[in-house]
This record gives sequence, C-alpha cells and structure tokens, in this order.
Amino acid sequence: MFIDGVGLGADAAENPFFALRTPGLDSILDGRRFTAETVGYSGNKATLLGLDATLGVPGLPQSATGQASIFTGINAPAYLGGHLNGFPNFKLRGLLALKGIFKRLRQIGYRVCFANAYRPQFFDLLAKGLPDHHYSCSTLVTYYGGIKFFSMDDLFNGRAIYMDITNNLLKYQDYELPQITPEEGAMHLANLSRKYDFCLFEYFLSDLAGHHADQDQVEQVVDTLDRFIGTLALNVATDDTFLMVCSDHGNLEDNAVNDHTCNPVPLLMIGNPDLRRLIGDKTENLTHLLAGVEKGLSWKG
Ligand SMILES: [Zn+2]
Repeated sequence: MFIDGVGLGADAAENPFFALRTPGLDSILDGRRFTAETVGYSGNKATLLGLDATLGVPGLPQSATGQASIFTGINAPAYLGGHLNGFPNFKLRGLLALKGIFKRLRQIGYRVCFANAYRPQFFDLLAKGLPDHHYSCSTLVTYYGGIKFFSMDDLFNGRAIYMDITNNLLKYQDYELPQITPEEGAMHLANLSRKYDFCLFEYFLSDLAGHHADQDQVEQVVDTLDRFIGTLALNVATDDTFLMVCSDHGNLEDNAVNDHTCNPVPLLMIGNPDLRRLIGDKTENLTHLLAGVEKGLSWKG
C-alpha cells in the first residue's frame, strides 16, 4: 500500500497521527504511536522503519520523483537532477516504462495487480492511447506493465477500491455507487490480494489534506487510514500474506506547515517476523522498497 505525503512526525500537537486517536495503528504497534518515536520498533505483529525520502538531493522531496524511486528502485531525483512534483516528465516516464514495478515483476513471472478503480472517462482516453501528461507514477507503471485497469464495474463488484476507499468522492464526480466503510474497503483489498502474488493500492488524499490543512479533512483522512490499515492488518497478515505500507515524502504529519517535509517516511511491515527482518535489513530509503518486494515474493520461509 502506497500512501502519498505521510512522514513520521514528532509526538507533538501538530502531528495529527499523534494528536488524534489512531486505535488501529496503535494496536498494530502494540500500543505505540505511528510517529518517529516508534521507528525501529518490531513487535508481535509489525515492524516500523523510517526511510529517507530526500535521497541525498537538496530541496523538499516531491511526488513524481519519490514515487518513481519507489516503483523503479532507481534514485529518480538524482537521475533528474532535482525533485519533481506532481506528474512525471518525459525523462521520468522513460524510466517508468523501462523499469516499472509491474513490468519487472511480470517478467519474473508474478501475477500482479493495481487495485485502484478508474472512471469511464479514463477508459475513453485509454482507448485513444494514454496521453503522456497528467498521469501519476502508479497509473503509468500499470500502463507500461501491460496490466488491466480496474473499472467502476470491478469496484461495484468488490474487485477494486476507489482512491478515497469509501466511494464518497464519486458522488461529486458524476458517478454514484454505494458508500462503504474503510473496514469494508480493507476487506475488498484483502480478498483481491489473495488472487495475486503482488497487489498495490494507492491512497493520495493524505497529501492533499496536508496541503489544504483543513482540520475536518485531516481528521477524516487519519480516521480512514487508521481503520483501513487496522482492518487490513487483521485480515491480510496471515501465513501467506505480507503487508508493506510506505509513502513518498512527509506532509500530513506536520500541521505546522502546509507543504512537504524532510521527515523520514514509514515502512510499516505487517506479517511474518523473519520476513520483516529480511526486508528491513539494509532498507534505508525509497529506492530499496522494490528490492524488498522482490525479497518477499521469492521468500520460501
Ligand atoms: Zn504534495
């Protein structure tokens, strides 16, 4: 699971992951909080690491380069000569086309899926050939990986998840579906993941909430994430499933600023402790996550 714009912040009032109640995350971490204080903790259910998102490049870490680093294993800001916000440029798209996670995992023989559902307008564009601009890294690696995009039909049938998890935003987007709870969304993702070797879900409202700094929105995002991840942890971390939650840069964890931060970003691993140790070893920044996924997939423990 990839969450946009969530770093590990201080145990302080300006960090909504500390100031608000997060019983789901707390339970995963044996009562500890989802903050920088807990980095390095490894308990019965989970391990929390803090990864470097700046990748040694000056400036605030940004989405296009951060996500490209996660999804290719290449230091994208170093490759571009700076952090790039928003959507990938021509050079970054070339990197995603060559080394995107889905293409790579499929080449090794794994069954993969991108769990996010797309609206009909997207498929109209796709039929004409996906335009180069205005698409995030996850959409591009799905496209370049040659795998199916899930539709509103898949969403309706519980085979995909909408980007806000609850379908609430769809009513503002000319498309109404029954709303679901974060817990139901988590069950849809847990069930979907069992059909594949690797399954990715992306949630980016966290970064928007950090930029908007609207307290209601922040509370809703933290509550949704807490319930979604808390339910996932209870339902996917069985003997044959492993959950990794990561982000591209900090933002939401510091209310004192409306922009990205240089805080470490979480790698929250839920599942077998031996595998957590194996993946956690030498996983220090965003470029190490793809190798971690591969270690997990080839693990015979
Ligand atoms: Zn942002």
